[in-house]
This record gives sequence, C-alpha cells and structure tokens, in this order.
Amino acid sequence: MDNILEVKNLSVSFMSYIGEIRAVRDVSFSLKPGETLAIVGESGCGKTVTVKALMRLFGNSAAVIKEGSQILFRGQDIAKMKKTDLYNIRGSGIGMIFQDPMTSLNPTMNVGDQIVEGIRTHDQKISRRDAIARAVKLLELVGIPSPEERIKNYPHQLSGGMRQRVMIAIAIACSPDIIIADEPTTALDVTIQAQVLELLRELKDKLNTAFILVTHDLGIVFDFSDRIQVMYAGRIVERGTKHEIYKNPVHPYTWALLNSIPRRGLQSKDELYSIKGTPPDLMLPLESCPFAPRCDYAMPICKARAPQEIALSDTHGAACWLLHSMAPKVERPGTLRGADNE
Ligand code: SF4
Repeated sequence: MDNILEVKNLSVSFMSYIGEIRAVRDVSFSLKPGETLAIVGESGCGKTVTVKALMRLFGNSAAVIKEGSQILFRGQDIAKMKKTDLYNIRGSGIGMIFQDPMTSLNPTMNVGDQIVEGIRTHDQKISRRDAIARAVKLLELVGIPSPEERIKNYPHQLSGGMRQRVMIAIAIACSPDIIIADEPTTALDVTIQAQVLELLRELKDKLNTAFILVTHDLGIVFDFSDRIQVMYAGRIVERGTKHEIYKNPVHPYTWALLNSIPRRGLQSKDELYSIKGTPPDLMLPLESCPFAPRCDYAMPICKARAPQEIALSDTHGAACWLLHSMAPKVERPGTLRGADNE
C-alpha cells in the first residue's frame, strides 16, 4: 500500500537571540493509510515540533523548516505549500488533537458553533442545519451524553474530559486521512485519561484513519500503535513495530523509557525509576551521542562520534554504538516492562 505521508530529512530549528536551537534533526518516517505510529520521548525531544511541522502549525514562533526537508502528504510537499493549500489540508487532510483543550477551544463560542465552523470551512455546500445535525452526531460518536443539549455549551461549562472529546469531534469532523493526537491525555486525570484513550482506540477502528500519537509515556502506546519511534535530542534513536520495541528494544534510552513505566504493585513513588541527568542542549551540534552523559553504557566512541542508525530488520533500527559489530555485548536491564504488556 502506498504511503499517505512521507517525511524525509525533516529538520526544524528555532532562531533565538542566543543562537539556533535544533529541535528536530534530520528525521525521516512514513505512514500508511489506517496505520498508527506512536512518537515517544521526554519533553523537549522534538516530538511535538515534528508533528507541528506536518501542518506547519508554528504560529508566530521563530521556527524554521530547514532547506532539504520534505513532508509529502498524498505526494504534495507541505514544507513548500502555499498557505491557501495548507488551509485545505488542515482539518480535511490532517486533523489535530491538542494537549490542552482549554487553550485550544475558543472560550467565546459554544462547542456546536466551533464544530460547525470546522465542517463548513471545508464543505462550503453543506447547509448550517445539516452541519449542526452532523455536529450532534459527532458529539454522540465521541461519547458526549445529550449531545443536542451539550452542543449549546461553552467550553468552560464542560469537564476536562468532555472538552477533550469535543476536540476529538472537531479533529474527526472532516474525515481527515490522518489524525495527530499530541499528548491527548496529559492534561486529564488518570481515570479520564483511560476513557479518552479507549475512545481514540474505538475511533481508530471505526474510522480506519491513520493516527500519529505523540506521548512521553511508552506505557500507553502498546494497545494503540502499530509502530513506535523513540526520539531523543531531535533525532529518532530507535524505531520498530510495537512488538520489536517492547520485546526487543536495543537502545539504552528506550530501555530507560520502558523502565520508567510504573510497575504493577508499586508501593510508593520512590520506587518509580526516573532517567538520571537532564535533557540535552539542543544548541550543540551532534558531534557525539547526545544521550552519552546519561547513559550507563557509554563508551569512548560515544563521546567522540554521533552514532548513525543501524538496521536490525526491515522495520527495526536504532542509532547506538552498542549495535556496532565491535562493541562489547551488554545485558539489557532485567526490569523492562515490555513483556507485561503482551
Ligand atoms: Fe549509550 Fe553510546 Fe548507545 Fe549513546 S551510543 S546510547 S552513549 S551506548
């Protein structure tokens, strides 16, 4: 099946008064229709900047998509697209669910009008009455009770979980080919998080839309994703099918993320593993492995040269010197949670 999205050599920088912040560095990946890709990493790893670049959603920030980057959506390069063509793609081609619905929804419009506006922007022939009927159906689809009533509510009259459901209704309103969910449950409490994830899973099956899920939590992606790519310092450091990443992770950063997932039976927060050290300085050029200062397995070569990706299968690869044929064999830590999820 042809790819619906092909990202090639994407680099994004922010130009600040202290210099260039290299948020995304030479990232390539693709997505097939109906497939789900999870992009995972700590805050500041470049995952949100990567997906914002897919829609060129940088607002007034000083973000620059670097020369040589390609974002091919149905064969058209979003990186070079005119703004008018870009508006057509936003919503009807690619829909986005943001992290915080309170700041993404318009507080001065009721939720019905916000959904209707989205529908009518992309379907100018639809009457307002039909668009309202569709908005009610969408609210029903995302599990909002009494949708005919709720449609008249303003965002502040809804709970956090309900607002996120409205955001999801807006994202799917124009039947996009790809839905991007950027940390869709981070702003919600734990029980609501589970409900929203369950809703996304149901919609994925019902709508057969391709999904990109962005999250810092490797613990939530197993049930949801077909493939996973782990990002660190603006690069993809490991990629694979979900089985490859959970059963046979090879990058020490992926090991650390898997070990950070809370284990069943954990008695206190003190037992929770957290990755030591601080995230890397994105202003520095990549002359070494950016994870080296935090890596228990770092070797002299790691501090001298940045590793390139080594393929382990058609779908699995990682950028780590441990995969080099001359590297010492190391045992990966025994507390990995991958097997728990299968
Ligand atoms: Fe650790 Fe070296 Fe692999 Fe980097 S390249 S993750 S420092 S072992």
